[in-house]
Amino acid sequence: MFKMNKNKRLPEQLFTLVMWLIAVLFAVFLTGLGSKVIGDLPKVGNPPELEQYYSPELKQIQVQREQLNQKNATVRKELEQANLNLEKARQRYDEEKQQFDNWIQTRTATGNNTQDAPVLARTQKLDQLQAQVSKEQQIIEQLNQAILNNERTVSIEREEVLKEQARIAFEHANNTQELKVFLMRLLVTLPALVLGAWLFAKKRQSRYWPFVWGFIFFALIAFFVELVPYLPSYGGYVRYIVGIVLVGIAGHYAIKRMQIYLRDKQEQEQKMSQSSQAERRKNFDNEGALGHIAKNICPSCERSLNTSSGVPADYCVHCGLCVFKKCGQCGSRCSTFFKYCSSCGHTLVDGEGQASIDKMTS
Ligand SMILES: [Zn+2]
Ligand SMILES: [Zn+2]
Repeated sequence: MFKMNKNKRLPEQLFTLVMWLIAVLFAVFLTGLGSKVIGDLPKVGNPPELEQYYSPELKQIQVQREQLNQKNATVRKELEQANLNLEKARQRYDEEKQQFDNWIQTRTATGNNTQDAPVLARTQKLDQLQAQVSKEQQIIEQLNQAILNNERTVSIEREEVLKEQARIAFEHANNTQELKVFLMRLLVTLPALVLGAWLFAKKRQSRYWPFVWGFIFFALIAFFVELVPYLPSYGGYVRYIVGIVLVGIAGHYAIKRMQIYLRDKQEQEQKMSQSSQAERRKNFDNEGALGHIAKNICPSCERSLNTSSGVPADYCVHCGLCVFKKCGQCGSRCSTFFKYCSSCGHTLVDGEGQASIDKMTS
């Protein structure tokens, strides 16, 4: 009905093209309208956020941790300063010690061991510097201890347990939300899908086929664009199961169609083996039959025609249909589905070619 066929009139072929264009445009506009409708659906609410599921205890702990972090940040600054101080104190002590050692060596070398007072004074100064170093070290220890003590006031383990509880509650809410969104979309797209399937099964060859096919395209687009991406995943299970079910349905339909086709063909061949060539030809429209023959396919049994001599043979070797005969007037070889001889224009009457062949063979 809507296949391009070389045996059709040229305007007829153009009309077919226009019809397909209408089908596509119809689908485009339907799709636009459909996505508008889905976009304007009442919203099922905002998607949940993890923080919504934090318990008061967890929030309390987080506030405490915030305060603690601030407190420890101040302590760490102090610690930094204390480290610098320690470094300086050490440097001062080291310099003084170096000078003292040199001085003592000089005194020993010159044998001047009498002046005890300066030795005492310088030793005292060294002791003071050493005490300063110890003091700075003590301050650093205290600050480190303070940081540790602060951190012990908030339990990390408890916080982790509470966070895990919140995460589980959040995931549950998220799944429910996804399901709601999907069901809402299904509610809108399901009628279109059902109607599309019905049109495909019953009306795809009707007079209004461009609209039927436009609607089928629309239903397919709606299914794959508006529905499939919103399938709740539940860890991927749902998507694979839906895929398996759909392939199962499609496979069942295809197998049924194939069985019907084979049964019909068998019945046809049975019937045809008992009827004359002229009667058999009446079962096919000329244009479709010529299209088949152009592809070297038998119009009746749809198997390949024998082409061992370079051109299709006169008879189908599978079902016995006569596809070529000689013109009764000029004897040119013409397809039995021609209405007029392609050489002399003689009107070809069914059975005439058969008679001419019979005459030649007798
Ligand atoms: Zn055949
Ligand atoms: Zn002729």
